[in-house]
Amino acid sequence: MEISFAGKHALVTGAGKGIGRATACALSRCGARVTALTRSQSDLDSLILECPCIVPLCVDLSDWGATAAALESAGPFDLLVNNAACASLQPFLEITPEKFDQMFTVNVKAVLQVSQVVARSMKARGSGGSIVNVSSQASQCALRDHSVYCSSKAALDMLTKVMALELGPFQIRVNCVNPTVVMTDMGRIGWSDPVKAGAMKSRIPLGRFAEVDDVVNSILFLLSDKSNMTNGATLPVDGGFLCC
Ligand code: NDP
Repeated sequence: MEISFAGKHALVTGAGKGIGRATACALSRCGARVTALTRSQSDLDSLILECPCIVPLCVDLSDWGATAAALESAGPFDLLVNNAACASLQPFLEITPEKFDQMFTVNVKAVLQVSQVVARSMKARGSGGSIVNVSSQASQCALRDHSVYCSSKAALDMLTKVMALELGPFQIRVNCVNPTVVMTDMGRIGWSDPVKAGAMKSRIPLGRFAEVDDVVNSILFLLSDKSNMTNGATLPVDGGFLCC
């Protein structure tokens, strides 16, 4: 399936590492002009070496004032991938208010605020657009020590649906992908222990974790006009984990 984003401007958050970085590079290869947002300048420096056409934007999404100012001059955008997130694992009884705030600020509130800026401009230009939020299988299945992360991704799934409902009349589609474990830096935090990883894989009908490209391909599909009638969907990229 040939996908082209020629003439489109895409914003990818959390583009310094892992899934976001690979998404930014794939969009660039498919002809999009890409703005890559992350908070570590060193990651942006190496990204530009890898994909020289990408425009870097170094900002911490938990600082809304700085993010809003950075986005002001970076747009307008036709495509948005809300990929940045943080994950910190704690037993429920040990969760601190600070950890809760940190995860909800990046995983949910920043998605809402970045999407507002981007979607207001799409609406004003009458151009339509496509937004993909990177959620997780953890939004729909309880995982030990993941109570705040699971809750933040469940909130993201529902935010996606309400955004789809309200932005659909402006031809702005909003969907999310819900991957299983991917062995990025984030994946390694939770799943490096072979016993834990083996137990998780045994619950995935395909018997393996997802590769970064499995997630990127689903993101590209949802961003593209190949999914023109898909809006408000939560697309599992989980080898069947959520259907069991
Ligand atoms: P990584 O940790 O590998 O990469 C996350 C990227 O987001 C990094 O570049 C990170 O920058 C950036 N980021 C984090 N916080 C902020 C912030 N406050 N402001 C700006 N940038 C920020 O994660 P993955 O690639 O694994 O995850 C990408 C998405 O996929 C996330 O939404 C995650 O929840 C989801 N997901 C991941 C799974 C997995 O197993 N890996 C499974 C299911 C879903 P820095 O490194 O500088 O902090």
